[in-house]
Amino acid sequence: MARLCGAYGRDKLFVVKRRVQAAATGNAMTYRAPVADILYSLKHVAGFAAAIDQGRFGELDLATAEAVIGEAGKFATEAIAPLDAVGDRDGARCANGVVTTPPGFRDVYRRWAEAGWAGVTAKPEYGGMGLPHAVAAACNEMWSGASMGFALCPLLGEGAIGALEVYGGEALRATYLSRLVSGEWTGTMNLTEPQAGSDLSAVKTRAERAADGTYRLTGQKIFITYGEHDLADNIVHLVLARLPDAPPGTRGISLFLAPKFLVKPDGSLGPRNDVRCASIEHKLGIHASPTCVMVYGDAGGATAYLVGEENRGLAAMFVMMNAARLGVGLQGVAIGEKAYQKALTYARARRQGRAGAAGGGMSPIVEHPDVKRMLVTMKALVQAARGICHLTAMAIDLATHADSAEARAAASERAALLTPVAKAFSTDVGDEVASLGLQVHGGMGYIEETGAAQYFRDSRIAAIYEGTNGVQAIDLVQRKLPLAGGATLKREIAAMRAVVAAVAASGEAEFGATAARLGEAVDALEQASVYLGGALGADVASALAGATSYLRLFGLALGGVCLAKAGLAALSQPAERGRIGLVRFFAEKLATAAPGLARSIQSGAAPLDGCDAILAENA
Ligand SMILES: Cc1cc2nc3c(=O)[nH]c(=O)nc-3n(C[C@H](O)[C@H](O)[C@H](O)COP(=O)(O)OP(=O)(O)OC[C@H]3O[C@@H](n4cnc5c(N)ncnc54)[C@H](O)[C@@H]3O)c2cc1C
Repeated sequence: MARLCGAYGRDKLFVVKRRVQAAATGNAMTYRAPVADILYSLKHVAGFAAAIDQGRFGELDLATAEAVIGEAGKFATEAIAPLDAVGDRDGARCANGVVTTPPGFRDVYRRWAEAGWAGVTAKPEYGGMGLPHAVAAACNEMWSGASMGFALCPLLGEGAIGALEVYGGEALRATYLSRLVSGEWTGTMNLTEPQAGSDLSAVKTRAERAADGTYRLTGQKIFITYGEHDLADNIVHLVLARLPDAPPGTRGISLFLAPKFLVKPDGSLGPRNDVRCASIEHKLGIHASPTCVMVYGDAGGATAYLVGEENRGLAAMFVMMNAARLGVGLQGVAIGEKAYQKALTYARARRQGRAGAAGGGMSPIVEHPDVKRMLVTMKALVQAARGICHLTAMAIDLATHADSAEARAAASERAALLTPVAKAFSTDVGDEVASLGLQVHGGMGYIEETGAAQYFRDSRIAAIYEGTNGVQAIDLVQRKLPLAGGATLKREIAAMRAVVAAVAASGEAEFGATAARLGEAVDALEQASVYLGGALGADVASALAGATSYLRLFGLALGGVCLAKAGLAALSQPAERGRIGLVRFFAEKLATAAPGLARSIQSGAAPLDGCDAILAENA
């Protein structure tokens, strides 16, 4: 017995040692905002510097944009990142309808708002910085990388500001916008109800017209992010609801603004509105972000104001949702980035096995080809997804800032085409990379204190909310592929081919087979597009059966092209030449999945239909 106890004692000591080592290399290392990589991608992949040079953003110069992004990186690294682990461990709490955020959140939120970060893209007349979405994309990635649980609150606020700027009448803008832009108040997005998730036509929350021109809301919303909290004095809820005489389906949905506290004519806070948080959810990740059940109208109806026109609420809400979709895509990039940072640090310190010739001690695991594979895959996927998100942000910017109506229309269509790819490809990448990061840590990755497990848990929601990735894929195939009679997609494919041709023309040996493999990926995308275009008219089930594979194929081809642009720019920058190796890896090791995906898409729905009998079996 004594011997057994002794052995157990030694084992336990070993585990403690492993934990100390993991803490020294893993959790002790918090996120560092990747400012240089983000700036490189904006400049060389998305064409941000060129757009500034062409005067697309008025007085804005590159140095100012870089300084803003640098400051955001500093705030993310130094102020927000230290909240991440405590936010996960302590989580948001709810007692009697009062929601308390984890320790430190209130103070950092106040400093974040005071620094003006709530209004990066907001118009200067409401107190905003009026900066391009490309800059906001950089900031949003870094807020989410530092703490996704924290960053969700600002993300919703940004969406509310965008929706009110476009659809809020003068009175609503005057009362609410400057307070949202200053971060004094926060915003929420209330779509989901128990019976209305992906299908918003089932929304039941009721809006009654009141004699004074306002409305009264009654109903229940679920899963409302930051629906209640203690970070700000007031919460501005944007709520989808249905008028009594509304037509059925999505054509009968209106958008309303319902504040937590009613606002008096002088702008000060009045009585509490008839809306309350009934409870918050216990969930897999993002523990710091309260996910609330919101009850409207317990005491006769929550006072609400119409945003936009009656029965046209979905169009207004889409302004908010599109901004949020890019923001959620950037969450995937952000979690992937921090998972990579942590895994690389661990892999350099952890020693196991011998990587090279016999002799010597154990090698750092980073030297094993399989671990290298995981780490480079992580880096390549993150940079590819970041590039796609930056292209999308630039397209959103050029939709208002391009120099001709034609160019603005083309940019707007491009933004529409790329948004589902930015959202779904990037969040799938976030999951894959977080999972690889955990794998690099071996058993310690599965142990919470390393921190890799938190990233894996936090990441998982991003593929679900803001329209599941399945719904994004359907949107890409059914609505975006046919945009402008297919011309938008054709332009995108032509732009991809031009980059592939530039790689081929460079004659740079370090690119290896990049041009050939990326060329095949773009061919595969084109073939699959042609197939789906035909199936949409004749056999919709076959088109939908291939939608998720198509979105992945799109992401691989476009992501490879983004890395190729970064590699081409590196040809003249000795310090950046590692980017050439990265695109070669992506092209030869990851983009090679593209032709297989095209074949899978072209097999249509028949292989699925052949499995109907399996699904009909008793579980
Ligand atoms: C942590 C968290 C935070 C959230 N924050 C908010 C928020 O702030 N505001 C808000 O309004 N909502 C929020 N949501 C809700 C979220 O947006 C929904 O959960 C999501 O849209 C999916 O809806 P659902 O859960 O009802 O799933 P369902 O719609 O039931 O979908 C279940 C599955 O079926 C698939 N599916 C559904 N319809 C189709 C179809 N037509 N074709 C093919 N596949 C289909 C889906 O892709 C999914 O895989 C949040 C959810 C969570 C968990």
